[in-house]
Amino acid sequence: MLLGFKTEIKVKSHQRILLAKHAGVARHAWNWGLDLTKKILDNNQENPEAKIKFPTAIDLHKWLVALVKSENQWYYEVSKSAPQYALRHLRKAWDDCFQLKKKPPRFKRKGKQDSFTLDGSITVEHDQIKVPRIGWLKTYERLPQGIKPSSVTISKKAHRWFISFKIEIEPSKIAPKNNPIGIDLGLLRFATLSTGEELCSPRPYQQLEKKLAKLQWKNRNKVIGSNNWKKAQLKIAKLHYKISCIRQDFIHKLTTRLAKNHSEIVIENLNVAGMIKNRKLAKAIADSGFYEFKRQLTYKTQLYGSELVLADRFFPSSKLCPCCGHKKEQLPLSKRVYDCEHCDWVADRDYSASLNLLGLVRPDVAVRPRSGSPS
Ligand SMILES: [Zn+2]
Repeated sequence: MLLGFKTEIKVKSHQRILLAKHAGVARHAWNWGLDLTKKILDNNQENPEAKIKFPTAIDLHKWLVALVKSENQWYYEVSKSAPQYALRHLRKAWDDCFQLKKKPPRFKRKGKQDSFTLDGSITVEHDQIKVPRIGWLKTYERLPQGIKPSSVTISKKAHRWFISFKIEIEPSKIAPKNNPIGIDLGLLRFATLSTGEELCSPRPYQQLEKKLAKLQWKNRNKVIGSNNWKKAQLKIAKLHYKISCIRQDFIHKLTTRLAKNHSEIVIENLNVAGMIKNRKLAKAIADSGFYEFKRQLTYKTQLYGSELVLADRFFPSSKLCPCCGHKKEQLPLSKRVYDCEHCDWVADRDYSASLNLLGLVRPDVAVRPRSGSPS
């Protein structure tokens, strides 16, 4: 199976300039292509009788070579893959937009989402990778060995450079059999497992939010684009990065543990996109990383030979009694305990929900004959 791999690179000073040049050309090509395609779309709307065919990525690259490259000598200082892939990505962005999957592509600003893609002869060796035009790039961690990626993407985030590529991986069947688990995800507590374990996420925003707000307040009067403003932006970006690292680390450890140790993992198929429209919930959800949790479980279960089971969005996991199956008509969010009026089940609400989720694959395992909170 194909797995994405991303890691930070140690950049030498002469390489820093070369990387920035590549990112600059990629951004220039993207912005040029975006401007052109927008004009074509405008023309086609205003003059439907004189429609221009919407260009393919190959058309765009041909025009770029003919019209732009000759006028901008600095294009010759970088690999031709950089502008080529920028236009490919632009065309893909338009396709996603036409199919209503994403919003229209936007112009790129310098220093925001700097990235470019290279292909050609790529060599991976221990803790370094050789890419065309730039040469050997050292990494902080040992790279997967015996692989030959056909392309790599190099990107910058808060003054750090990263390299990413896809690798073919042979799944290993290390997950045990007959050990399913149900997981209730929540905002108050990140995950409640049907084993009774309760896991709180580090909630990095709550810890570092004050620091971030203070920083943003302190810099409110700085002139946009000034040196001081740039310095402050960098500090803010670094803080954001730190926050995302804490969250990433928590989710990685949890999903690896689950995928390695359970045969089936049952979670609710949360409508994260729908929930994010609710502004109050949006920050808490983005912060708690449900989407990332599901994304990682999806590939890690494949990797370790376990299975991810998604319960239907309308499955009433918190309204059912895991003991007798009775369904409550209503259960307000404020009520943290499920107490059944038909049997003597009394237990934590999220724990009860996790048992109901487990019950979807293994009703015999999920149902507990006795009440009480897990110990
Ligand atoms: Zn009951």
